[in-house]
Amino acid sequence: MTHAEQPYEYRRRELVEPDWTRFPGWRDATREQWESAQWQRVNCVKNVKQLRAVLGDLVDERFFADLTADQERLATMSMLVPPQMINTMVPDTEPTTDTFYADPIRRYMIPVASDRRADWPSHPYATRDSLHEHDMWVAEGLTHRYPTKVLAELLSTCPQYCGHCTRMDLVGNSTPAIEKLKLTLKPVDRFEAHIDYLRGHPEVRDVVVSGGDVANVPWKNLEAYLMRLLGIETIRDIRLATKALMGLPQHWLQPEVVEGLERVARTARRRGVNLAIHTHVNHVQSLTPLVARATATALEVGVRDVRNQGVLMRGVNATTTDLLDLCFALQGEAGILPYYFYMCDMIPNAEHWRVAVWQAQQLQHDIMGYLPGYATPRIVCDVPFVGKRWVHMVTAYDRERGISYWTKNYRTSIEADDVEALSKQYPYYDPIDGLPEAGRKWWAKQDDAEAA
Ligand code: SF4
Repeated sequence: MTHAEQPYEYRRRELVEPDWTRFPGWRDATREQWESAQWQRVNCVKNVKQLRAVLGDLVDERFFADLTADQERLATMSMLVPPQMINTMVPDTEPTTDTFYADPIRRYMIPVASDRRADWPSHPYATRDSLHEHDMWVAEGLTHRYPTKVLAELLSTCPQYCGHCTRMDLVGNSTPAIEKLKLTLKPVDRFEAHIDYLRGHPEVRDVVVSGGDVANVPWKNLEAYLMRLLGIETIRDIRLATKALMGLPQHWLQPEVVEGLERVARTARRRGVNLAIHTHVNHVQSLTPLVARATATALEVGVRDVRNQGVLMRGVNATTTDLLDLCFALQGEAGILPYYFYMCDMIPNAEHWRVAVWQAQQLQHDIMGYLPGYATPRIVCDVPFVGKRWVHMVTAYDRERGISYWTKNYRTSIEADDVEALSKQYPYYDPIDGLPEAGRKWWAKQDDAEAA
């Protein structure tokens, strides 16, 4: 009798810290240095020259020229990559030019010009602030989009900059392609404005404290902000957004931060508030023992849960195996709940990463049934002016032109006077390069008409 294989075979793999001394630039780095948040921050790679110093002769000039071209013409984010993250690229051996090019972490943290699509680098409807968060600010950095929740952007920096950042409008340093929006208030005044708004809006019960990345807020300022939030009786959920739990776990292991987090978690517990950390891991290679240790420490000091919100990207993780390998390592090895995968948002120069809605639906179908139900992530599309929708919630879908239509069941803060808001259908667009020929021709015609 023939034995038919399962589409996915689960095998337990324990986490391993890749050997950082395989990189010429870190041959002499000690464990003590590696585990120091300060050493990691000082040794972040911020430009082509620094990357060359780390990689030495392992990667040839062709790659660096490609990276320079991207930085000069196309990048929407400036470079900032902690050693911790570079060490997860080609983790098992010395990289070569080809393996470095092909690496999934490299593909989104250090994008190069040849990664991007020459035909359609951006979708015609791509925009800088694709989710209109800035339009929905009710105070500087405070987005009130859903009826009961807000997003609080405390600052516009992170310890690492991701090439596909959805907040590319605001986050990070300006690049030749993108002049960034600047926060103008002093942090203390910005925080005050947030607290004032929340005190005056008891219907808001859930605050995502984000940025940027909260790991870049000096701890005492973050603790003061969180304690003030915990002083507002109507706040019942607080979620701290930090990719640094993975990108710079050393930050979350510093004694000052661990002790402070314990004070905040204790206060949250006493007041019956759910305090959680939301992180952003896109590939199984990113999970190392240090990430698991930082997560375990946060849970030990009383944070209720640590959850992952990854981003679904072509060339990085948009296969069933990639998603399940990551989710099993999150759930089984790192203590992080696989919660969401977002479809990559419609920002400029991101078409090579984006996947179509039908592909996301297929992936959602294919990952069902392997993980515990509560740890099976939802793949969501953040539809402009709508918000997060599960990918199967599409109302109508023109596959030829790649336009899906979505509805919603609440008003955002800018729709108070729009009586039609709840009966409208809101469009979302698949990448054009994957459409049937008739669809590609249709978009090319629109583009020509626009240019004429
Ligand atoms: S950590 Fe988050 S906010 Fe910062 S660059 Fe990456 S995606 Fe953007």
